[in-house]
Amino acid sequence: MFKTIENPALTNVGIGLLNFTVKHNFPFVTDVVRQTLFEQFVGGEDREKSMQVVKMLFKHHIGSIFDYAIEGKEEEKTFDHTFEEIKQNIKFAEGNPAIPFVVFKPTGFGRLDLYTEVQRGKELTGSEKAEWEKVIHRYDEVCKLAFERNVVVMIDAEETWMQSAVDDLVNSMMEKYNREKAIVWNTVQMYRTGRLEYLQQDLQRAREKGYVLGYKFVRGAYMEKERERAAAMNYPDPIQPNKQATDDNYNAAIDFVINHLDKVSGYFGSHNEKSVELVMDKMREKNLENDHSQIFFGQLYGMSDNITYFLGEKKYNASKYLPYGPVKDVVPYLTRRAQENTSVAGQTGRELGLIAKELQRRKNG
Ligand SMILES: Cc1cc2nc3c(=O)[nH]c(=O)nc-3n(C[C@H](O)[C@H](O)[C@H](O)COP(=O)(O)OP(=O)(O)OC[C@H]3O[C@@H](n4cnc5c(N)ncnc54)[C@H](O)[C@@H]3O)c2cc1C
Repeated sequence: MFKTIENPALTNVGIGLLNFTVKHNFPFVTDVVRQTLFEQFVGGEDREKSMQVVKMLFKHHIGSIFDYAIEGKEEEKTFDHTFEEIKQNIKFAEGNPAIPFVVFKPTGFGRLDLYTEVQRGKELTGSEKAEWEKVIHRYDEVCKLAFERNVVVMIDAEETWMQSAVDDLVNSMMEKYNREKAIVWNTVQMYRTGRLEYLQQDLQRAREKGYVLGYKFVRGAYMEKERERAAAMNYPDPIQPNKQATDDNYNAAIDFVINHLDKVSGYFGSHNEKSVELVMDKMREKNLENDHSQIFFGQLYGMSDNITYFLGEKKYNASKYLPYGPVKDVVPYLTRRAQENTSVAGQTGRELGLIAKELQRRKNG
């Protein structure tokens, strides 16, 4: 499968075809998807069906983070449904070490354009105000429940033109619920410029107001889109000028966590071996135990098993983002995974190379 999606032309044609046929309920296609992309990247059609994967991973000291992978739907009823689903996930995760975090995407709780308007400081109409109140209510209810059940909840990061609205909301939740322990975690994309300054500001505010911080650190998934929009609308590119600059910035985030453990906890979501090694090195330098309660690692289910299983074996806090949802609804998530695994995006080379190497190793006994 990785060999097939490595070809960008084939992937693009395949994605077009997939979206069309799934939309029009071609049962044969659903079956093919279920046995290929779905099988590789998704835990199951619902939480219960994904439990087999959760148990299998936990045997290897790997936690699972349920990711309700419905994307790109903007109706209030879908937001309400996602809201209920996330609350169920919190109840399900309570007291269960196999499920260390619960996660949701900001656009799972509200429209991207609404966040954008809030961020721009636009005067909202009456109905928009009511809609925004509902978004705030969903965040607050989820974070409150997480606090009551002692479950950590992590909020994904998305496009820069809506992320400040999300950051403000998540910061207000941290202030409310992170008085003693990091229950609410934000995500920081280190491919962005100015994020180290942002972290310093957060830290200062948390010190002044007396709460603790939790962050997932990623490089960032929307680079092309970000650059295109900035060019089209003629504002400065919000992304680091090159890969090295992003890598340096990511490394600086590792230092930020390691040097501020009195206030900050960190989850390193990356498929980059060097980043993961660097976190491990820094932990060793500071004599931190592998399963330190404030340092976590994560990869996406179906990718970079070499990293996750290694971390699990060494008793680090290893985890997988485990997407789940009906086949038809997770197609947008799957197409994103397929796109990032083309040879252009570069991840397949990595995955395929490792699979080939492992097959050879097994052949050689
Ligand atoms: C557990 C987990 C959770 C995630 N959650 C989120 C999330 O909430 N929000 C989100 O946006 N992403 C998220 N991601 C995806 C993540 O942001 C990356 O896109 C993906 O992991 C690839 O980066 P990497 O660190 O694994 O590896 P690498 O292959 O080392 O890095 C690739 C990344 O480097 C950056 N990059 C590549 N080329 C350039 C360039 N020319 N200039 C500047 N930067 C460049 C891009 O961010 C690219 O994705 C998540 C990933 C994981 C594993």
